[in-house]
Amino acid sequence: MTNEQTHPVPDSSIVPQGLHVVAKPVGPLCNLNCEYCFYLEKKALFAPDERYSMSDEVLRAFIINYISSQPTPVVEFVWQGGEPTLLGIDFFKKIIELQKPFAGTKTVTNSLQTNGTLLTDKWCEFLKMHNFMVGISLDGPKEIHDRYRLDRKGAGSFDLVMCGLKLLQKHEVEYNVLACVARETAHKPLDVYLFFKSQGVEFIQFSPVVERLPDSSSTELGLRLAGPASLKEKKEDTEVTPWSVIPEEYGDFLIAIYEEWVRNDVGKIFVMNFEWALNAWIGNPSPVCVHAKQCGHSLVIEHNGDVFACDHCVYPQYKLGNITVDNLRDMAEKSLQSGFGVIKETALPGWCRECDVLAACQGGCPKHRFVTTYHDEPGLHYLCEGYKKFFLHIRKYLRVMATLLENGLPASRVMDAIKGPLVIRLKNGDQ
Ligand code: SF4
Ligand code: SF4
Ligand code: SF4
Repeated sequence: MTNEQTHPVPDSSIVPQGLHVVAKPVGPLCNLNCEYCFYLEKKALFAPDERYSMSDEVLRAFIINYISSQPTPVVEFVWQGGEPTLLGIDFFKKIIELQKPFAGTKTVTNSLQTNGTLLTDKWCEFLKMHNFMVGISLDGPKEIHDRYRLDRKGAGSFDLVMCGLKLLQKHEVEYNVLACVARETAHKPLDVYLFFKSQGVEFIQFSPVVERLPDSSSTELGLRLAGPASLKEKKEDTEVTPWSVIPEEYGDFLIAIYEEWVRNDVGKIFVMNFEWALNAWIGNPSPVCVHAKQCGHSLVIEHNGDVFACDHCVYPQYKLGNITVDNLRDMAEKSLQSGFGVIKETALPGWCRECDVLAACQGGCPKHRFVTTYHDEPGLHYLCEGYKKFFLHIRKYLRVMATLLENGLPASRVMDAIKGPLVIRLKNGDQ
């Protein structure tokens, strides 16, 4: 799994219309030991003899409750970890069998987020047969990926992940690549992007790695990383881990890739971060929580049935209940009533409210809003400098793409516009 995981959020902005739950059937258990992982440490929150495997009772309760709590015709299950494939194919066969009788007229879809190292032909046959969408974590070419994504002996995982990727391609399983951008990764944007391109990857999402050194409350819990920022107080320690990306360098990383992409690959390669930006520019709500106005629509369920406000907030104070006794919609409502959702918007510092790119950024994930602004206000995102640089830089391209789309033309014509003067016949007859 990756660091700044960005969950899709339902189209609607209120819970009764849709609710997204990420399931962690194996809890924080993983066969790898990535340097920047923020899941592994969560073992400290469970008993030493914890059995990290979702029981039949919890699985059944979750499936029934999740399907029935969705008013939408499509119910999207997302399975992640730790490393969910550790549970074996039979566990996932059980999921499919349990979903069938409760789906009714609804369409049920499944996604699996994996580090790819345990994939086999059998796994891929299964994933293909049941139309799983697979997210595979790969940070770039070997020397970049192996810098942080290590196994338990400290060896790089690149070769195994690439075997997994090739198997997904061989079996034509739908997949996307989730690439973490840690400190050193950010120095090699084109190495990363061109590598993905050379491997035939068409869907990519970049996730910036941001973590702080532990504060007193996380130390008390036995964690090695700090929990979510307090958006209203300035007292937080803001020292980040050595693997956290430098804000401006994250902006430069995205810009370098965007410049390459916008000249050659629009409409052929889908970099989700770029798609979200265009989406925001044309006035649509963000499909991902990080750049949505509010939080509160993406719960997470742990292997033992405990439900938390989101995957970035698996801490005792964010626990909403347990699936074996509580209802998902009630738990989501409880989360919203606690203010978890709106605080992202209401606690925005003036610096963000007056920002030219607020519509695209929306202040970023509250967990990482631990910086104080130049005007001494708390609650600014650590990556602000990078976000702003990136969004400001791409505005000129977004403007052209939005005009193309408004006039019924594909956004990919922006590549022609860059090569030379582009004449667009506008809908009202102007040029
Ligand atoms: S693959 Fe790496 S980042 Fe993902 S859960 Fe395992 S150790 Fe953590
Ligand atoms: S770019 Fe910075 S100032 Fe602008 S909305 Fe994002 S975090 Fe706030
Ligand atoms: S805190 Fe909000 S923005 Fe951050 S991961 Fe959770 S739901 Fe998404």
